[in-house]
Amino acid sequence: MRAYHKHLEVWALLLFFMRTCWSVPQRCEPGDEFLGSCSSTTQEETPACTEMNLGYCNEMDYSRTIFPNILGHRSRFEAESGAEYLLLSVIHGLLNGECSPEIRLVGCSVLAPPCREDKVVKPCRSSCEALRKDCSHAFEAIDMAWPYFLDCDRFFASEEEGCFDPLARLRARQELALSSLSPEEPSTIIQFTYTSNAQMYSLLKRTAAKCSHISHVYSIGRSTEGRDLLVIEFTDNPGQHELLEPEIKLVGNMHGNEVLGRQLLIYLAQYLCSEYLLGNQRIQTIINTTRIHILASMNPDGYELAASEVEDSNDPELNNQEGHLLNGWTNGRTNAQNIDLNRNFPDLTSILYRSRRSRHFRTDHIPIPDAYWFGKVAPETYAVMKWVRSLPFVQSASLHGGELVVSYPFDFSKHPNEERMFSPTPDEQMFKQLARTYADAHATMSNNDTERCGASFYRTRGIINGAQWYSFAGGMSDFNYLHTNCMEITVELGCDKFPSEAELYPEWKRNKEALLSFLESVHRGIKGVVKDSDGNGIKGASVSVRGIRKDVTTAEDGDYWRLLNSGTHIMTATAKGYSRVSKRVSLPHNMNKAGRVDFVLQKLPVEPDIDDHLFPMVDTWERFDPYNQFERHGDPDVAEGEVEREEKPWWWNYFSQSGFSPPNWLLRNV
Ligand SMILES: [Zn+2]
Repeated sequence: MRAYHKHLEVWALLLFFMRTCWSVPQRCEPGDEFLGSCSSTTQEETPACTEMNLGYCNEMDYSRTIFPNILGHRSRFEAESGAEYLLLSVIHGLLNGECSPEIRLVGCSVLAPPCREDKVVKPCRSSCEALRKDCSHAFEAIDMAWPYFLDCDRFFASEEEGCFDPLARLRARQELALSSLSPEEPSTIIQFTYTSNAQMYSLLKRTAAKCSHISHVYSIGRSTEGRDLLVIEFTDNPGQHELLEPEIKLVGNMHGNEVLGRQLLIYLAQYLCSEYLLGNQRIQTIINTTRIHILASMNPDGYELAASEVEDSNDPELNNQEGHLLNGWTNGRTNAQNIDLNRNFPDLTSILYRSRRSRHFRTDHIPIPDAYWFGKVAPETYAVMKWVRSLPFVQSASLHGGELVVSYPFDFSKHPNEERMFSPTPDEQMFKQLARTYADAHATMSNNDTERCGASFYRTRGIINGAQWYSFAGGMSDFNYLHTNCMEITVELGCDKFPSEAELYPEWKRNKEALLSFLESVHRGIKGVVKDSDGNGIKGASVSVRGIRKDVTTAEDGDYWRLLNSGTHIMTATAKGYSRVSKRVSLPHNMNKAGRVDFVLQKLPVEPDIDDHLFPMVDTWERFDPYNQFERHGDPDVAEGEVEREEKPWWWNYFSQSGFSPPNWLLRNV
């Protein structure tokens, strides 16, 4: 895979630098020489122009430089041995190509400034300021401080003083290229390569920084090995829920070796950001009316393992030993504790089946049984459970690989001995429609071909009830449905779990419309607010639909969403201590946005014998992690063992692998 090799090259380069260069004679603090606070012990020579000869600065417009340079390095060797030069040589990889080659050009103009008549010509402050304006967010996104040697006030000069513009030639070239660009040229530039965990984090953070008015990233927790479970969010007011705006989530890479979904979600994030900025009407509407949460990798530890196997398989010396790699099947399905995350959620489906015959059983907001907490709960599972409980998600898709089909709950068979048994939820019609939305908008998923990856879904055109396909307990989709309002489908994106890099762009094209249609489909059915007679929203009220034994509950401000097919429905809102109100609602066939139905409930006089069975589980639903076994994950400060590793940004390794004292000026807040 090309991406890995690029990565390796950076490392090889780095090691080369460390071995050869970082045994520098005693040096002053960066910049001190320039300030004159550090006296030179060598014989003073009259500085004179000399040949440049710095590999990473060869693209400059001039060929002659001078030492000492602006930072006080007295020779080419000294300049090359510094962390400044090392940074310039790896910055392209660290920022994933962003602000490259601009940073290098400006950096080189400080490290190896042009020389005229045996005098230094300083670079222009205006070029530095322009660079800083465009690129400081890229540094922020990877938690790196703006390099001290790019301090515009310190090492740069004004036009009046006679300065040199290191970006002039690049700008001229770009303008030329732009004028010859046809308008049909693809507008969004996405690199269709695999993305390591570190690259993924920086890419998502940089995307959010680029689109900071509509995007933001947040972490829902950490994996077993301490990697971030990072979510990127898109909406018109990021970071907060807005009344009646539906929330939707997309989850990738739950199985660490099923990697296509992870890549598609990374591309989707970049696509949403750049298309919004370019004024794409459809994307702007989606983002302005929806709150989208994307967890590209739920299992970054598993991914790490799977990716390293694929990398090894490209090494001819290690090849031929494991044939399954050729089919894109690798280890890394489970998390680092060997737990299959899609079997690790509380099995609420069994509870439902057991209590089905009791008169007051509920199909919604089933609490997590205490016994669950005695078993092994993966930190990834834990983080996702907390996440889905904390936001009013309406619908969700979990992206997998190994088949080409959309499956929907229940995943667990209603008969314990039947491993393939149609086991519908009360929302069978709606789930089918959700699954259809994805499958039909996908380029090939609903085709009638019979030969797929093994199973055949041609009779149902690419969708299937999970338990009818194969039954399993403890899945994430069943949990979403039975514990929250959220309806989640499972998308199997293709036979290959780890397709070749060349497949990534075609796969994006096959899935792009399906992903966008799925985002749009959250604007269906009915939404509204349940309020009291003073107009205040009632939190936790139930909204039921006659004939569908699954209620939804209202969010913080009393708003709710009920995905529904067209037709006439009787809807009822209830809340503890309030009257019950029913409405007859007609949902036309061709609605392209959710209908609005509000309810006003009257406060009832307090009666001790209120129909308690309606709310038998509300109290216990609140019971989550009663033994606080996961407290340590919530607070990184008290995490044991790996504190050191977690304090430093991921790129720190690039600079700290040798005995050389690392460039602390790259750390923020130091
Ligand atoms: Zn899977």
